[in-house]
Amino acid sequence: MALTKDTRITLNDGNTMPVLGLGTYAAPDVPKIQAEEATKIAIDLGYRHIDCAYVYNNEVQIGNAIRAKIADGTVRREDIFYTGKLYSTFFNPVLARKGFEKSIQDLQLDYLDLFLLHWPFSLKLAEGEESISPDKPYVYDNVDFCDTWEVLEQLKDAGLVKSIGVSNFNKRQLERLLSKPGLKYKPVCNQVECHVYLSQSKLQAYCKSKDIVLVAYSVLGSHRDKDWVDLSTPVLLEDPVLASVAAKYNRSPAEVAMRFVLQKGIVVLAKSFSVARLKQNLGVFDFELKPEDMETLEGLNKNLHYGAFKEMKQHPEYPFHEEY
Ligand code: NDP
Repeated sequence: MALTKDTRITLNDGNTMPVLGLGTYAAPDVPKIQAEEATKIAIDLGYRHIDCAYVYNNEVQIGNAIRAKIADGTVRREDIFYTGKLYSTFFNPVLARKGFEKSIQDLQLDYLDLFLLHWPFSLKLAEGEESISPDKPYVYDNVDFCDTWEVLEQLKDAGLVKSIGVSNFNKRQLERLLSKPGLKYKPVCNQVECHVYLSQSKLQAYCKSKDIVLVAYSVLGSHRDKDWVDLSTPVLLEDPVLASVAAKYNRSPAEVAMRFVLQKGIVVLAKSFSVARLKQNLGVFDFELKPEDMETLEGLNKNLHYGAFKEMKQHPEYPFHEEY
């Protein structure tokens, strides 16, 4: 079946997720109003899946955009697939409920389509701090994500979130969650970094065997926010092999980078706050990569994590020590 911007993938709980999502993270110095404007334009253009998180500090603006597009009749609430994420500082089960409530109040929505555990590790805020900052030392916490998961199950039972999933989990952590005594709902997805330099084939195969959808972030080579990404890493969209495949199809490197991941059967998130690039990225549905070009692009894999979150390396649940 040909992929279109309206294609949705069925999740293990029966709900469906559009295969292309709008990323909304931007560095703190980018005015928040840009996220609101871009989300409105994206909805006008036909994007229906919006990926956000408490820690992006823009749920107020994203909620404004979604509600404005419902109010002007462009979409109905049920047309939009909104993903939120519980940050690591809310893993204590008492705080988890508060973390959810903060998101829903900021968004001014009645429910979330998907709510994820943002990371497998838990953190505490330092004394007197209101949010985690890359300039401050992280304070590790040892709340087990299996305990936090029960709060997500309760939110699903209450109809406040339609589906629940995880992000940045490795195979061992997924196995531990799946074998949790009394598990009521499996995660519907695992949202992870995935692109031509990090093709995630082994994690994808494992997830597929458990009916868990892989959702890819940083498909275009990430936001390259200096606080989170090592700027000595290669710029993905400048890769010469990617450029040569793009030239062959008369497409941009961005479209080919996205198409590669989509054609692997992985849901793609791509962030842009530019009207031209939001439009360009929808071109991903207008062509198909031949098997030999898929193979060439697969050959670019070097297991490179742009978002390595090195500050967390000592945390017992740091997910990237293992191969996948
Ligand atoms: P992406 O890989 O999506 O890249 C975004 C960058 O690419 C921006 O600088 C954007 O600039 C640029 N860009 C977009 N389209 C094009 C194009 N056609 N040509 C050239 N450049 C382009 O980055 P992210 O790391 O932001 O990942 C996407 C989303 O995934 C995030 O926004 C967030 O929602 C989610 N995410 C989740 C994480 C998690 O832990 N679960 C971690 C990281 C991201 P411009 O806006 O100017 O177009």
